Amino acid sequence: MFKSLYEKIKKGVEKTKAQLMKISFRRKIDEALFEEIETALLKADVGVKATQEIMKFLREESKKRGITEGEDLKSLLKEKLIEILSGCKGELNLKGEKPDVILFLGINGSGKTTTVGKLASLLKKEGKSIVLAAADTFRAAAIEQLEVWANRAGARLVKHSQGADPSAVVFDAINSAKSRQEDIVIVDTAGRLHTKENLIKELQKIKRTIQKFSPNQPCETLLVLDGTIGQNSINQAKTFKEAVDITGIIITKLDGTAKGGAIIPICQELKIPIKFIGVGEDIEDLQPFDPKNFVNALFD
Ligand code: GDP
Repeated sequence: MFKSLYEKIKKGVEKTKAQLMKISFRRKIDEALFEEIETALLKADVGVKATQEIMKFLREESKKRGITEGEDLKSLLKEKLIEILSGCKGELNLKGEKPDVILFLGINGSGKTTTVGKLASLLKKEGKSIVLAAADTFRAAAIEQLEVWANRAGARLVKHSQGADPSAVVFDAINSAKSRQEDIVIVDTAGRLHTKENLIKELQKIKRTIQKFSPNQPCETLLVLDGTIGQNSINQAKTFKEAVDITGIIITKLDGTAKGGAIIPICQELKIPIKFIGVGEDIEDLQPFDPKNFVNALFD
């Protein structure tokens, strides 16, 4: 049966929600209630920093507004979560150059190739012509997998053989897109090389190749993070940040056993906007990050 995207998020935030459900809001506000909320937020992977900010707000605002009922404190908590997450939301920025280049980063298994396919399909539906550059030449399977997604999404694929220079693939993809006046090139990169230094050098070389065509590109450098690993993804993000500037994050697998609450510390610590969330393995399972929807799913 078709499950709506909202239902999928609800499933993804189940673990976080289970913690919030333990709080007994149906009573007058007292110190024990504040403590219950604090414990629940920490257990829900919301992170220490965000939890402290939320608790400070709840204590101060409840006093200021003369709130005495637990249920009203719950509304205040929702309000604060939406406010924090709204600061984390970002839209996809396209410059309208032919082509715009979107560079994808992420470790193997994060859902990068799948997300490239989903985004290609989404943009294709908006009437854009899409080229996928198979710049993960490290794994043969990665090229084949991207080819499957290119076919599904109706995108043109540019590939070389396994082991080829990823920057050469990127050059060919942009060069051919430019001469054919195609709209967008999406670059799928390798998620693991022999060493961190190699990975960083390779990504920097890819970026220089992109900028040979236009100093405004890539218009987006998107990091794909696996939603099931929670706050651990912050360290991953820091490694990639050393290589290139990241303009947006996509959090995948928010439909399964995700630690959805971790979205908050991820966005607070990294200060990079979340542009999309992945809520499944199918081509349509990518949606813009909607903080209100997300928080509603937590309390629904
Ligand atoms: P890559 O190695 O980073 O390119 O990752 P893949 O795109 O190959 O994805 C790894 C696995 O995660 C695959 O089995 C995908 O189907 C799965 N996957 C990717 N995105 C999502 C998502 O949003 N939800 C779920 N449930 N699975 C996903």
